[in-house]
Amino acid sequence: MERRKDGERRFAGPLLAAGVLLTGLLVTVLVAGGLRAAQRERAERVMDQRHAAALATVQTEIARYRALLEAVAAGAATHRELTWDEFDVASEPMADAGLLGATAAAYVVPVRTADIPAEQRRWRGLGAAALTLRAAEPADEHYFAVYARTLHEGDTPAVGTDLRNAPELTNVLAESRRIHATAVSDTYVLLSDRTMPAGRQQQSFVLATPIWSRANTPEFRGWMMLGLRGRDFLSGVLGTISQGQLLGRLIATDSDGSQVTVVDWSAPGDPDLTRSAPFTVGDRTWTLVTQADSARLPGARSQMPALVLVGGGLLTGLLSWLVHVLATGRARARAQVEVATAELRVAEEESRRQAGLLGAVLTSISDGVSVVDETGRVLVENPAGKRLMGTDEANDHPEQWQQHYGVFRPDGVTPMPVEEMPLIRALHGEPADQVEVVIRNQQRPEGVLISVDGRPLDPSAGLRGAVAVFRDITDLRRYETDLRVFAGVVAHDLKAPLALAHGHAEVALDDLPPESPTRERLLRIVGSIDRMDTMIETLLAYTTARNAPLRPVPLDVAALARQVIEERTAHRDDVTWSIGPLPPVQADPGMLRHLLDNLIGNALKYVRPGVAPHVVVDSSRLAPDGPGESGGWVRIEVADNGIGIPDAEKPHIFETFHRTEEAARYAGTGLGLAICRRIVERHGGEIDVTDNPGGGSRFFVTLPGVPADTVLEGRDMGSTAENDDAAVRAALERALAERAAILEAAQLPGLGMPQPAREQPLRMPRPEKQRQDQA
Ligand code: ADP
Repeated sequence: MERRKDGERRFAGPLLAAGVLLTGLLVTVLVAGGLRAAQRERAERVMDQRHAAALATVQTEIARYRALLEAVAAGAATHRELTWDEFDVASEPMADAGLLGATAAAYVVPVRTADIPAEQRRWRGLGAAALTLRAAEPADEHYFAVYARTLHEGDTPAVGTDLRNAPELTNVLAESRRIHATAVSDTYVLLSDRTMPAGRQQQSFVLATPIWSRANTPEFRGWMMLGLRGRDFLSGVLGTISQGQLLGRLIATDSDGSQVTVVDWSAPGDPDLTRSAPFTVGDRTWTLVTQADSARLPGARSQMPALVLVGGGLLTGLLSWLVHVLATGRARARAQVEVATAELRVAEEESRRQAGLLGAVLTSISDGVSVVDETGRVLVENPAGKRLMGTDEANDHPEQWQQHYGVFRPDGVTPMPVEEMPLIRALHGEPADQVEVVIRNQQRPEGVLISVDGRPLDPSAGLRGAVAVFRDITDLRRYETDLRVFAGVVAHDLKAPLALAHGHAEVALDDLPPESPTRERLLRIVGSIDRMDTMIETLLAYTTARNAPLRPVPLDVAALARQVIEERTAHRDDVTWSIGPLPPVQADPGMLRHLLDNLIGNALKYVRPGVAPHVVVDSSRLAPDGPGESGGWVRIEVADNGIGIPDAEKPHIFETFHRTEEAARYAGTGLGLAICRRIVERHGGEIDVTDNPGGGSRFFVTLPGVPADTVLEGRDMGSTAENDDAAVRAALERALAERAAILEAAQLPGLGMPQPAREQPLRMPRPEKQRQDQA
């Protein structure tokens, strides 16, 4: 239904425009047609008038010619012997009448063949001095023009010629004589014109009026005859009234009934209007045909219809285009709105789907996620987060978070200061990774250890804020502790027989005389046992570096380095060393101590025999692109004057168990630098070695720095690590005691634990106990 409406709307514009176009064109055509018809009608009327005028003029002219001719004839009838002078006077008016097309007027008399000489004499006597009558053919009677008056310049009347030469003349003379009235001849070419070229010859005719005396018994005397050239006559007559717009044709009906065109008079144009009408000339009926090009008749045709047609067409086109633009413009706009709305709907659905997906992900994952805006107002907290925090109620005031959620440092008793909380650090632009926090509140009275990653909110979120991801690591930590206890038990079990063997070897040594060759072997046994003991310690340290929890705190590196060097050189006086000003770092105290101990230990160890070791520890602060806006990265360098490391070996010495060829002469396991690399990488830093410009090697590590005014904890090695180790040690002692009790209770002969030769203190893999290089 809606779609049908849409379709109707889409076609409404074009249909409307087409309607306007059709109507406009129709009206234009009708108006132009009407104008054209009116013009046509006017042209017909003008043509009728023109034709009537032409006909009237032709008739009037012929009547006038005839009247003149008859008047002259009547005058001649009164004279029994008409002299030349009398003829001249009588025919004078004809010359003055301006008879168009008239060639000549003549006085014609019938003469019997026998009378020709006598008649010639008589007419010469009456005035026709040069008259010579020339009979044409043998006949009873001949017709001679004895007097003639030229009516057209250049025409010389054929006086004395026998008119029997032209049958048309003979006929008309006979006819007029018979009917006693003026008669008109058939058309013919004048005798005098017959010598002209055919194109210039004209059809002509004559009017003949018989002359009868006025006696009681009228006596026939002859004829008065008027010759006319058809074309000259008609052009003269029509020329004045047609004003060059009428074509004319004069059709005569000859004595035998045939129609002969006397004259066909043309005018320029393409004639489309024709009129014809008969009229009588003497005893004949002639027809006048007129034609005209309606375009040339005045007022009959103008450019108006064409203008109306073109103008109307243009206007209609313009109007329909406007209508189309307006109508479809609305439709277009509506279509655009519909498209935009549809796109919006799709986008809305997509974003709703995304939001749903995000919500589902947040609900499904086991890690807690919490998002706050820049004021600390909680925007998002997923179910896992609520579960971990033990409370459904979000708190929007960071200063209350400690009490509200029960947030403590990893020792589980020290309340965590708000500025150390990862979310708050992230709000200040400082990412905080794997920060360990204990949550203890009414809902979670047993306490839960969580590891928190805090990050500033990505700018694509469109608002400032921070996000925290946290997970429960209580079990993980318990497992790690168990692992360390297990490692401690294994170490204890391995080291007990070692201690026994060591003890027995030393006793044997004491018992042997100094020069005994066995002494040397026993000394080797003691050395091997020591190396094995060191190896066990180192492997434990390696495990610790990987698995032990990372608890970074601000540390005074210089103090730590000094402690290490002093411990390592307590029993030597050949070592020189210096420690430059070292900026504090954010690091795990136990691990940093491992690191420094390994690097400084190597620096003291790898020197050529006889060379006094010289160790320099210094540092520089690098660009502030690391953790903390003001902390940046700190580079700590340990340089020595030892044997150095070949370039080819440099990339490999940080791999486990890799030792250089030259190092074979020195005690070692090849694990120390691998432990260092692991510690540095767990802090996000790097470790590498270069040649020391004055000889020897220069190791450097990068570690996160801390702002200069931070309170440092490095001096007492960090209570947390101590606590942790104490807990592990206690667990280990418990585990060993339990196992001894079980073995005793079993009372199985031969399965008692071997007792060490002398009291061996229980040694945990503590960093300060690692002395691999003293073997
Ligand atoms: P270890 O010292 O037990 O062999 P390390 O992992 O500490 O193992 O060192 C690996 C190797 O790197 C050494 O065997 C030695 O070849 C080389 N090395 C380490 N420190 C130095 C040093 N300061 N000078 C020269 N060579 C060193």
